[in-house]
Amino acid sequence: LLAGDDRIAGLDIGGTKLAVVLSNARGEVLAKRSEPTRAKEGPEAVIAQLLAMLEALLLDEGMWMQGLEGIGIACGGPLNSKTGVIYSPPNLPGWNAVPLKELVENATKLPVIVENDANAGALAELRFGNNPKIRNLVYMTMSTGIGGGIVLDGRIYHGTNDLAGEVGHQVVMPDGPECKCGKRGCLEAICSGPSIARRARQHAAAEDTLMLELAGNDLESITSAHVFAAARAGDSLASRIVDETAYYMGIGIANILQTLNPEVVRIGTIAVRNGDFFLEPLRRYVRQNTWPSIFEVCRIEAASLGESVGDLAAVATFLERQWELTGTD
Ligand SMILES: [Zn+2]
Repeated sequence: LLAGDDRIAGLDIGGTKLAVVLSNARGEVLAKRSEPTRAKEGPEAVIAQLLAMLEALLLDEGMWMQGLEGIGIACGGPLNSKTGVIYSPPNLPGWNAVPLKELVENATKLPVIVENDANAGALAELRFGNNPKIRNLVYMTMSTGIGGGIVLDGRIYHGTNDLAGEVGHQVVMPDGPECKCGKRGCLEAICSGPSIARRARQHAAAEDTLMLELAGNDLESITSAHVFAAARAGDSLASRIVDETAYYMGIGIANILQTLNPEVVRIGTIAVRNGDFFLEPLRRYVRQNTWPSIFEVCRIEAASLGESVGDLAAVATFLERQWELTGTD
């Protein structure tokens, strides 16, 4: 059983950034390092980079590898959370059936747990976010993509082959815009940051809008941040795009509520940065599309760990597996 001062390392593997965190079992971050991912060099180089970052971090802290209780790794899926094998995530070229868990265990001689990054984020929100008594929680990322992690009765729900919680790929607009996954009208194809920006650009060419000015009068430079900034300033086109975003997110979240009856839905990046300006219209659309008895018991809010959810995601993954093994919280 882990004690509060036991040390755990969390490794976060992103397509553009690698992060290594040293934490205690209470989820307090003691040290952190991040570097751009050398993704083009392939899996072996990235894993070597990650291990070198971990060793450097431990050296800085006057620790050695065996002073750690274990390592949690958060990585983009698809992956097998039991075997820790990674299967060709879109943001990690060349990662075809990479036995990540085994490779890191062999290199460090420590227990290693691998989890999909959105599930890991859900675990971080559950254990270290507001109100740790929550048992049923859905966490949604809302940035370059829309991912999700589902916690039911205090445990991550993985589904039959680790594909549960892919909430960004529910169809909310039949025959809608093409999604990177190959389907049409997925929530992600309408409400991710790049999708919001794409919709804005489609309309900004024909309409006078502050978004264009904020983007230096370069249509192609409009981002979702420009859309929200212009909407806050009262720009009518930007306001319509934000409202449309809230509408489709509202349908997606209402479907989740209607299926899972959770206590809380926490949403990352875009919701964190825009708060109630986005969450208020969102809640209105969720309410319109689900039963009052389901809506009333569920809080829809920004991720309580804010932008630091990623720091604790991998650590929470390792801790979760320990709790599972020992049957304690
Ligand atoms: Zn999709």
